[in-house]
Amino acid sequence: MDPERPRAEAFAVRDGRVVHVGSRADALEAAGGAGAAEHRFDRGAVLPGFIDSHNHMLWTGIQRTQADLSSCATIRDLLDRLRRYAEDHPDREWIVSGSGWHVDVLAEKRYPTRQELDSVSARRPIFLPRVGHAAAVNSEALRRAGIGSGTPDPRGGRIERDARGEPTGLLLEPPAVNLVGRLVPPLSRAERRRALSEVQQAYHAAGICGVIDPGLAPDDMAVYEDLWRERRLTVRSVVMPLAQTHEDPEALMAGLRAWGVRTGFGDSRLKLGGVKVYLDGGASLGTALMREPYPDERCRCGIQVTHTSTFHRIAEHCASAGWSLGVHAVGGKAIDIALGVFEDVNRRHPIRDLRFCLIHAYLWPTQENIGCARRLGVCVATQASMQYQFAPLLVRRFGKDLVGKATPVKAWIAGGITVGGGSDSPVTPYPPLLGIWHAVTRHVDALGTAIGADEAVSAAEALAMYTRGSAWLSFSEHERGTLRPGMLADWVALSENPLGADPMALREIRVAATAVGGDLVHGS
Ligand SMILES: [Zn+2]
Repeated sequence: MDPERPRAEAFAVRDGRVVHVGSRADALEAAGGAGAAEHRFDRGAVLPGFIDSHNHMLWTGIQRTQADLSSCATIRDLLDRLRRYAEDHPDREWIVSGSGWHVDVLAEKRYPTRQELDSVSARRPIFLPRVGHAAAVNSEALRRAGIGSGTPDPRGGRIERDARGEPTGLLLEPPAVNLVGRLVPPLSRAERRRALSEVQQAYHAAGICGVIDPGLAPDDMAVYEDLWRERRLTVRSVVMPLAQTHEDPEALMAGLRAWGVRTGFGDSRLKLGGVKVYLDGGASLGTALMREPYPDERCRCGIQVTHTSTFHRIAEHCASAGWSLGVHAVGGKAIDIALGVFEDVNRRHPIRDLRFCLIHAYLWPTQENIGCARRLGVCVATQASMQYQFAPLLVRRFGKDLVGKATPVKAWIAGGITVGGGSDSPVTPYPPLLGIWHAVTRHVDALGTAIGADEAVSAAEALAMYTRGSAWLSFSEHERGTLRPGMLADWVALSENPLGADPMALREIRVAATAVGGDLVHGS
């Protein structure tokens, strides 16, 4: 990944950093001669460790302790999974699932009813939240929340009811979801610390050495700090504080300012990234903010989560105080608004060095958007795995041609934009090789074909997104993302060289070993 020396036979590591790249003989000497420990890989390739530029690692870790419904294909599957989980966790008062599961992949294309969930447990409450916007619950959960046929819908939410007016167990949007959600006992700090610690091993097994965790509350930031303090944070983490825009943004920024810290504070293990703001919803939910109404929902263009004036105030604060800013913007209208605000703020406070970032930005950025991003030094956190996961649903909604133009990675790169690869785990799967495979092939299994081959990139470009590109978004390109003298010895050994591999086989490449700072964290 070093353009000046893209290939070498060997490299040497001392004190966690690369000290030499070149021939094996020279590397051995640089490492201290015959006594140096040596890792040999006779086939495949060793690359800089992968960095996921948009990965809710803590949330992913917590989900692993809850019932995992992400691979269920039918309602029956889902009920079996819950039954097993309930048996395996007799001490848990509540049965709670992770929220990264998808109704459109279930054969029935609907949520389970409360009666179906009652067949799993009538005594223990069941709460199955989904991507922050919906939840399916059983009768016991409804009872504890005091929800009955006479309960009115809360403002901004909906309690689904059957023909007789009885709640079905489906709750829509946070005001309704929270009627039950707030009763679920929160995980203790120790439980969250364990979840974060344990998920790191799974990440290393997938070749991940670093993440940007976007959008943390202070209490969750503290969990990262705990692990860092105990020297157990093996995935290098860039953490982004979440701007809670239903609260006063001035208070958030005043708080950040009072502490005197800003983006870049920290060390190579744990570092502060930019402030994270949600500007719109999600494509799979029909809440991404579009320039035109959704074809299947007359007159509705999605939801603007943060008002433009609030967003403007946050951007202005960030630019003047030395904070970077990452904005969740999925739909075209949200991308237009974000870049318009950045352009205006840039007139008073240049933002280039702050690397403001568009997160997702996949439902149709225009050439003007790309040109504007380039002028401002705005970078993009893109997720090939999201394009892969949501393509079938989006094709039903928008048609194949339009979806082929979504996640236009090739256009971003051609436009001179720095692009970081990532997954948005647990929303879509975290293995970088899955994302690399999709970015190169644009293949979608569920559709049996490639969608948008024009936006496919080369394997070298895809690898660069998950190494150099994400290192740039992490404010760490001076020590991560390439292997050359002076860089941190974060590397991954793959069973096959992705540059020579059959593109369709890229996702089957195995991660033989992963090292962070020269220490082996996976494989041997
Ligand atoms: Zn996300």
